[in-house]
Amino acid sequence: MAALPRITVLGSLNMDLVAYVSHHPAPGETMTADKFATSTGGKGANQAVACAKLSRPRPSSSSSSSGTAATTTTAHVGMVGCVGDDSYGALLRGNLARHGVDVSGVDARAGLKTGVALIVVDAPSGENRIILSPEANHAVLPDDAAVAGIFLEPESTKKPDLLIMQLEIPLATVLAALARAREAGVAVLLNPAPAQPLPAAAYAGLAHLVVNETEAALLGGVADSASLVPSVDAEKVPAALRAVARAFVAKGVRNVVATLGSHGVFFLTADGRSGLVPAEKVAAVVDTTAAGDTFVGAYALEAVAAAAAGREFDVEAAVRKANRAAARTVERAGAQDSIPWRDELV
Ligand code: ATP
Repeated sequence: MAALPRITVLGSLNMDLVAYVSHHPAPGETMTADKFATSTGGKGANQAVACAKLSRPRPSSSSSSSGTAATTTTAHVGMVGCVGDDSYGALLRGNLARHGVDVSGVDARAGLKTGVALIVVDAPSGENRIILSPEANHAVLPDDAAVAGIFLEPESTKKPDLLIMQLEIPLATVLAALARAREAGVAVLLNPAPAQPLPAAAYAGLAHLVVNETEAALLGGVADSASLVPSVDAEKVPAALRAVARAFVAKGVRNVVATLGSHGVFFLTADGRSGLVPAEKVAAVVDTTAAGDTFVGAYALEAVAAAAAGREFDVEAAVRKANRAAARTVERAGAQDSIPWRDELV
């Protein structure tokens, strides 16, 4: 049997602590939340779960057959990152493993705390305010054994076919991994969130850059991110968006993908293909949390499947599939729980 394509996600793991309130507290105000919830999150972990869930059927639907997750999955998904040696860390690792993610690269670091996101949701408007405390995520350093190990090829395994990164771990680690990936010939998908300025070298030889309009604006030096979004009725790509995407390509990106929420996805490739792919119609927008992460996971699976089959990557087809997966996430509440399994997309 041919080896499964391998995706490695190098990134963050956070515990989301969410309080739902009737209004955001004023300075000095103590208030009672209507509801409280915890959920596993972090962009890195969400994207790893998205790759894993979208590459295999729901466990319940496969449990009646003799097939195990290992025989029904279309990709091997591994996570590299850092949690603390506390209960949140154990929960995060356990949840990844439960979804079929290889967590041997997730270090539970003694003496550190697991990263948390403190989220206050103003229930009437749905507007949230988030404080991110990175904790162990900031301990993911370029020379960590698990980070350096991504680019080695021990006998039992091989280098990833695709490395996915975001910017919730130290930038120095992301930049070092980009440089090593270039040397080792490992394709990279960079989702530069939360956005921060990147050196020009970050873009050189980058296979996939997936940005939302806020990230595209910050990285592209555009003051108003709204100028990058098509107006609802005019299905025309704003000139500013095309210019920003062209600038990324000029810096060395092969596939630029800009997700614009309900306004669709614009793509531009180094060989000049471009298009605006409409978002899927959804029955009702329930919760957009993890929509972007689902998109990345689905798109990544298409990219490794094309490489494994030796066919040219069809970015437009990948965007269509990713839109379909992300639309399912938008229709459901939660983060990792709202990401669909493969059999939920047919
Ligand atoms: P998030 O941070 O909420 O995970 P994001 O800001 O990174 O997301 P978006 O562009 O808002 O990214 O959404 C990612 C993808 O999710 C979109 O490209 C689209 O496929 C899907 N999506 C988001 N909102 C909607 C919507 N209202 N209707 C249909 N699809 C949507």
